[in-house]
Amino acid sequence: MPGKSVQSVRGVRDLLPEDAALWRSAEGIVIRTLEEHGYREFRVPVLEHADLYLHSVGEDTDIVQKEMYTTQGSKGRIIALRPEATAGIVRGALEHGLHRGRHRVWCAGPMFRRERPQRGRLRQFHQFDVEAIGFAGPDIDAELIALAARVFARLGVEGLALELNSLGGPTCRAAYRDRLREYFNDHVKSLDADSRSRLERNPLRILDSRNPEMAGLIGGAPDVSEFLEPESAEHFAELRALLDAIGLEFRVNPRLVRGLDYYSRTVFEFLTDRLGAQNAVCAGGRYDGLVEQLGGPPTPAIGWAMGVERLLELARLPELAVAEGAYLVLLGDSAVLQAGLKLAEKLRSECPGLPVLMHCGGGGARAQMRHAGRSGARYALVMGERELDAGTVGLKDLRGESEQTEIPIQELSRVLRGRSDRTIPDHG
Ligand code: ATP
Ligand code: MG
Repeated sequence: MPGKSVQSVRGVRDLLPEDAALWRSAEGIVIRTLEEHGYREFRVPVLEHADLYLHSVGEDTDIVQKEMYTTQGSKGRIIALRPEATAGIVRGALEHGLHRGRHRVWCAGPMFRRERPQRGRLRQFHQFDVEAIGFAGPDIDAELIALAARVFARLGVEGLALELNSLGGPTCRAAYRDRLREYFNDHVKSLDADSRSRLERNPLRILDSRNPEMAGLIGGAPDVSEFLEPESAEHFAELRALLDAIGLEFRVNPRLVRGLDYYSRTVFEFLTDRLGAQNAVCAGGRYDGLVEQLGGPPTPAIGWAMGVERLLELARLPELAVAEGAYLVLLGDSAVLQAGLKLAEKLRSECPGLPVLMHCGGGGARAQMRHAGRSGARYALVMGERELDAGTVGLKDLRGESEQTEIPIQELSRVLRGRSDRTIPDHG
């Protein structure tokens, strides 16, 4: 009976070897950039108590209301696959005392949201996440935004627009929320169903709506800037001046509020016009109240998250440099196979950095040489009965026209290292 085919889950993606290599090279560039700015990795788990998101991201958000993947944990507590990283990082920071003092951290990995899959929108996607905990800004706000811009520059991502806004502190937010509720209440007949349900509990989120029919109404809504406390207004002015000073262009978008509950003061997004409706590549903001909300002392903090899938659609990566390797062609019976495996092990010990592929599965000389050619290796190393008796190996440059030469086995490592001096580090 034929087996039943099982396909991947909707909205998740396989990364084939070639793509995975590209991802790794891009991730390497991003990580180097973050570390050069003093950010250090903080790996937090993929599983968290669902409560964590309820108390941080917020009860009235799409993420918590309909997008989390959850399962029953022990003692009846619900466990969630993380939909974002900030909450977990703050939880972890509190558990390990990182909220004391100042810490710049980054985290990378998969996030999970049950959304409608489409281009640039997956159910398992990946983020780079950066958080600066214990910093009040606005200096760090500018540094963090400039850091995102530098990541884009190093990956050859061009043409992004930076949008910026300030949501003020809690008093500003409360006053603005009331004023928005009033405004939208006056136009309640023009609200779509989603917005109507947000009206009472979280009218700010109406501004996040993607419904084009709501655009006019949202455009006419009152500005948060009229409600900013003097300290928040000053913070925002200072941040703009800092960005001006380094020549980072931005546009103040008074409608930018970000959907999550934990933001205060600075919020920002880097937008592209090249990915259709999925236009945000990086988004973040300040969350001065979150540490306290999760049980810690008042602690200012700010962070951003960058979507790796969207980032890589826009990136122009340099060609991957392939290290020049050797392909072992083995022509003979078990004595040759044993000698071949021993030779492979010897090369791997003596020439770190040299890719060594051993032909497996037997076959004649022509077939094995064909495999060697396709493998991408620079050299074929040929071993048969004759070479075994003579204690030599045939060395053929697969890219040149030159004939095969016989090299004594004990000299092979030195010869290969000498030939690929520039690509192979010598630890000998
Ligand atoms: P969007 O407006 O596109 O839904 P968001 O505001 O929900 O984005 P954040 O929670 O701020 O996104 O996450 C930061 C970044 O993560 C986004 O800017 C985007 O690049 C990426 N991202 C978010 N959700 C997804 C998803 N479902 N699939 C792929 N990337 C995503
Ligand atoms: Mg979203």
